[in-house]
Amino acid sequence: MTGSAHWYPAYVGIGSNLDGPASQVKDAIGLLDEVQGVRLVATSSLYRSGAFGGIEQPDFVNAVAGLLTTMTADELLVELQAIESRQGRERDELRWGPRVIDLDLLVYSAQEIDGPELTLPHPGIGERNFVLLPLAEIAPDLAVPGLGRVASIPVSRVEPSISRIA
Ligand code: ATP
Ligand code: CA
Ligand code: CA
Repeated sequence: MTGSAHWYPAYVGIGSNLDGPASQVKDAIGLLDEVQGVRLVATSSLYRSGAFGGIEQPDFVNAVAGLLTTMTADELLVELQAIESRQGRERDELRWGPRVIDLDLLVYSAQEIDGPELTLPHPGIGERNFVLLPLAEIAPDLAVPGLGRVASIPVSRVEPSISRIA
């Protein structure tokens, strides 16, 4: 046991559309599990979806990981960005442009934050099927602050198609 450390639940959204996206997503999940103070407890299937945001680019592969962590949300975000760097993510890319890996902190415990570096819950949960559907697969009963139970959040009808691939 690790003394009095408290383990907070957190959910991470993972996406890639460059350099073997499915392997990139799996590698990111592996690296997440190796972080000190993180225990991976659930991973969704992989999902494939068309890119959104109006930029012509390859399809994305997405997944969501559920974990327990002794870190704060800020500390966890730093670790997510370190994994992005290890997998070769360039920080000056276009927002919503093609990327080798993207790790977003979707939910951290019951925290609601709207800061310059960190917004929680991540706004994508209520806006993007490629976030909502994998999250609903592993945590349908999770209460997302401000949005309610995951399974009750409406699926968008106007987005590019999405399918489960593995
Ligand atoms: P989006 O956040 O809309 O999915 P993106 O993932 O393409 O867009 P990035 O370029 O990866 O955006 O990140 C931009 C900034 O978003 C990061 O530098 C980070 O500080 C900030 N950010 C705010 N909230 C979060 C969060 N919950 N998870 C990850 N990054 C966040
Ligand atoms: Ca993102
Ligand atoms: Ca991101």
